[in-house]
Amino acid sequence: MTDIQVPVLIIGGGGCGLSASIFLSNLGVEHLLVERHESTSILPKAHYLNQRTMEAFRQHGVADAIYEVGAPIEKFGKVRWTTSMGGDGPLDRKVIHEMEAFGGGSLRERYEADSPVISCNYPQLRLEPLLRTQAEQRAPGQVRYHNEVLDWQDNDEGVKVTIRDHKTDQTYTVQARYVIAADGGRTVGPKVGVNMLGPTDMVDMVSTHFSCDLSDYWDDGTLINWFLNPEGQDSWGSGVVVQMGPIWGKNSEEFVLHFAFRTDDEERFNEEAIVPRMKEMLKLPNIEPKVHKVSHWILERVHADSWRFGNIFLAGDAAHRQPPTSGLGLNTGIQDAYNLTWKLAKVIKGEAGEELLDTYEAERLPVSIDGADWALLAFMNHGVIDAGIGLVPGAPVEVNKAAFEALFSDSRLGRALRARAEVAIGTQTWEFQAHDVEIGFTYASSAVVDDGTEPIARDDMGRIYQPNTRPGSRLPHAWLERNGQRLSTHDLTTPGALVLITDAAGAAWTEAAGAAQTKLGVTIDVVKIGEHATDVDGTWATYHGVQDGGAVLVRPDNHVAWRSQTVSSTPGDDLTAALTQILAR
Ligand SMILES: Cc1cc2nc3c(=O)[nH]c(=O)nc-3n(C[C@H](O)[C@H](O)[C@H](O)COP(=O)(O)OP(=O)(O)OC[C@H]3O[C@@H](n4cnc5c(N)ncnc54)[C@H](O)[C@@H]3O)c2cc1C
Repeated sequence: MTDIQVPVLIIGGGGCGLSASIFLSNLGVEHLLVERHESTSILPKAHYLNQRTMEAFRQHGVADAIYEVGAPIEKFGKVRWTTSMGGDGPLDRKVIHEMEAFGGGSLRERYEADSPVISCNYPQLRLEPLLRTQAEQRAPGQVRYHNEVLDWQDNDEGVKVTIRDHKTDQTYTVQARYVIAADGGRTVGPKVGVNMLGPTDMVDMVSTHFSCDLSDYWDDGTLINWFLNPEGQDSWGSGVVVQMGPIWGKNSEEFVLHFAFRTDDEERFNEEAIVPRMKEMLKLPNIEPKVHKVSHWILERVHADSWRFGNIFLAGDAAHRQPPTSGLGLNTGIQDAYNLTWKLAKVIKGEAGEELLDTYEAERLPVSIDGADWALLAFMNHGVIDAGIGLVPGAPVEVNKAAFEALFSDSRLGRALRARAEVAIGTQTWEFQAHDVEIGFTYASSAVVDDGTEPIARDDMGRIYQPNTRPGSRLPHAWLERNGQRLSTHDLTTPGALVLITDAAGAAWTEAAGAAQTKLGVTIDVVKIGEHATDVDGTWATYHGVQDGGAVLVRPDNHVAWRSQTVSSTPGDDLTAALTQILAR
């Protein structure tokens, strides 16, 4: 006997699953989320939320709650490399390099011009409870922790899933039409025989979450500080510390320290050594850190070769896992949910054909591969940083110490070495200023109508984003004004809505949208810029890429689905044909 029937079951209450639940609620799709643990994760894990993620959260009414408690950009928009925090030696407390990051400092103007939101920083162990509350408010009783998926069978109605409620020790079944496996790759993937392609077991990241008063030493605007210690270049010798809040800046109460070990190094399990090494590395012998948790995270760069198994869709870490460099892991997972949920909603409501769901993998797999490659590139580039400073891997301590002495010497050589370090470490903008990687990705699938124009050339350094409306691209952000209120072009699409943006010369599109609605039963909101909203500073006119009377069709996830670059003589037919393809009708 089946106990519960629901259109969508989400397995996993991590960042991806909880976001999927919030999005589905706002899309009006009934669902159930089950998470095997009693609570959200107690591990610090990811923390950076990029602009694309915050755009999704903004559309779904979650962004303000995150900004309220997350780090403001002034407190996390910088990273630095130093030798130590304390100590009085000639090589102590030296700043090797500082870099603006995540849209902070002088980057801010450009990042703000490209999006209605800025990025945020909020560690996963705080974000997940926030998302859980938001999900529970939208779907009371439908977010069940301490409930574990044990097994499932495909059937004619979708998937029949067996779940154990650990609170009551009862087992029940759920008949779902679709399943989102946002389980971090722990349950569904191994059982359906998914192939995770790419290198694994690269590094064991030993992460120590601790509380400590570092306010006398921590630079107020810095999120991440690498310590490159002249006295040691082994795994214990250098490490990275990230501020964790809940107060932000130099008064941060919590931090996480990562040491990177080879995966065959037994020393990685030596937890007794962590605090002494932390004190030694930071050169702060008198601090008394309170360790909350030590966790291990095996770095890999893998993606599932297939993201769909019948009516089960993999999302988040279940579909891709990558190094933390560039902070794309959790962001990619949340954006997977953003892509998949509106498509599920359209199919469940009968507005789209089943094949629309195949475009989820077609669109997200290439984006996740690009992101994972980028993360690996940025990860490997830390070797370039070491080389740029003059460090030789495995060399005796004296050799590397001499490299630091030369680097900081007041001599012609010292100045030359510092100039080299500046250039070498400067390439790490790959990790910290990957603005175009974060928001400039495009989709190619049947849910996008190719208009035959050439793809926009992208910045090889991943920094500069080119706003454009080529189908598949993210809708460019421009500020508009309506009834005296400022709104972004992104605000034209409410959850689940398809919007056609045109101008005063595009009167025919209103009728065309009506014709498409009659034929397909799908509502298209038509927004005429200049009539329904004003392009206050002419930004939309710069980016819209169509002539007067042309039109841009935007999907619910604010990607361009189709455009007519000129006034059409057959607007109704054109729009209906485009929608028929996009929605797989
Ligand atoms: C130890 C660790 C440390 C990390 N540190 C960092 C970091 O420092 N920086 C960074 O950028 N990224 C880090 N990451 C990666 C980042 O946290 C992930 O990208 C992110 O958590 C992915 O979110 P998710 O929701 O897809 O998966 P997860 O967060 O893994 O969530 C999956 C959830 O599914 C649940 N689940 C699994 N099987 C079942 C089942 N059968 N029934 C019910 N529930 C189930 C799990 O309990 C889990 O809560 C770390 C990951 C780990 C594991």
